[in-house]
Amino acid sequence: MNKQLRKAVIAGNWKMNNTPAEAAHLIEEIRPLVANASCDVVVCVPFIDLHAAAKAAQGTTIRIGAQNCHWAQNGAFTGEISAPMLRAAGVTHVIIGHSERRTYFGETNGTVNRRVRAALDEGLNVILCVGESSEQRRQGVTDELVAMQVKIALDGVTEAELQRVIIAYEPIWAIGTGKTATAQQANAVCAVIRGAVAALYGTDCANKITIQYGGSMNAQNAAELLSQPDIDGGLIGGASLKAPDFAAIVTAADKG
Ligand code: PEP
Repeated sequence: MNKQLRKAVIAGNWKMNNTPAEAAHLIEEIRPLVANASCDVVVCVPFIDLHAAAKAAQGTTIRIGAQNCHWAQNGAFTGEISAPMLRAAGVTHVIIGHSERRTYFGETNGTVNRRVRAALDEGLNVILCVGESSEQRRQGVTDELVAMQVKIALDGVTEAELQRVIIAYEPIWAIGTGKTATAQQANAVCAVIRGAVAALYGTDCANKITIQYGGSMNAQNAAELLSQPDIDGGLIGGASLKAPDFAAIVTAADKG
């Protein structure tokens, strides 16, 4: 079963929530609940929380992620954070191309690609987000759109680097709306993404890449989503802000 070739990864995306003190407190709450997890557990926090989060996660298997990074190593980019800075702060993972960044902050497939390559160059793991709007789904272009997002984002990424890439399928209409894709809808697009990776890198690589679903995943619907053959984990927004809910999703991934 190909699913066994892949590591399940549950990643929390806290977005713009929690002060450093609140971040430390939430990670302390999460710690005992995920201590025996067999899947990878990542918590992606605001930049300002990275230090406190890394300290609170020390000695555990919880990995700390950021929610974006710039493509340059340093320079005149006011307000931005570079991949070497993230690494120095104890970060192992970085979300790139989240739809909120694409929609509100002008991210394009081209800048997403530059950020992906910068993060990989620095040895970070990338959680690359792709997904369609409700209008694009209605127009029937979901499959070609996500395949194109994947292709452009991975331009110039080597097969070896691909091992540090996780792809998160996040339909925009399901993010923060409480409207989850059905397990079948989510799995079908994750399979399309796997096909796109196969076209670029071959079937072996495609069978090994971790593909997450994200969009209103919660403690109630996680088990069904995570049991799908092409869904290897989740990127969790709202439900990652409550330790018991996040832990319940981790438990569901361990069973999935
Ligand atoms: C997200 O922000 O990546 C996300 C999936 O959010 P939510 O779980 O709140 O829909």
